[in-house]
Amino acid sequence: MVTEIVVIIILLITLLILILLLGGKKPRPAGEEMMIREEDSPEEKPFGTRCPLCKEWLNRGERVHSHLFSGKPDGLMHIFGCPHCYSEETGEGKLKRYCPYCGEPLGPEDYVIARVFEKPGKTQVHVLGCTICREKR
Ligand SMILES: [Zn+2]
Ligand SMILES: [Zn+2]
Repeated sequence: MVTEIVVIIILLITLLILILLLGGKKPRPAGEEMMIREEDSPEEKPFGTRCPLCKEWLNRGERVHSHLFSGKPDGLMHIFGCPHCYSEETGEGKLKRYCPYCGEPLGPEDYVIARVFEKPGKTQVHVLGCTICREKR
């Protein structure tokens, strides 16, 4: 009889742990997800921490090389690549660059064109295409 009681107790404890694990996830307060970190300037990190051309994750301090042409209501941006896939001297890096829009591999002279929407508190970047696929259209 004693072993049966022990088994029942163990089962009850397992059940309790399961209930705690499943029910323990409280819904996050709505305001929490809206918090955007302001310390990084939007121009430096328009794509979060991943290079849009080679998809390499960027470390702190590494940034995507780009030229911003401010305009109203929105500007244009030429994106060349990150330190992993682009160098200002040769136009090429260790990793191959691909257009996020058409997927074509980019040559040393090619770059990606994006539209930049300046919104209060953040900058939104919308990729239009690269020098290869933009010319075809
Ligand atoms: Zn890159
Ligand atoms: Zn393209």
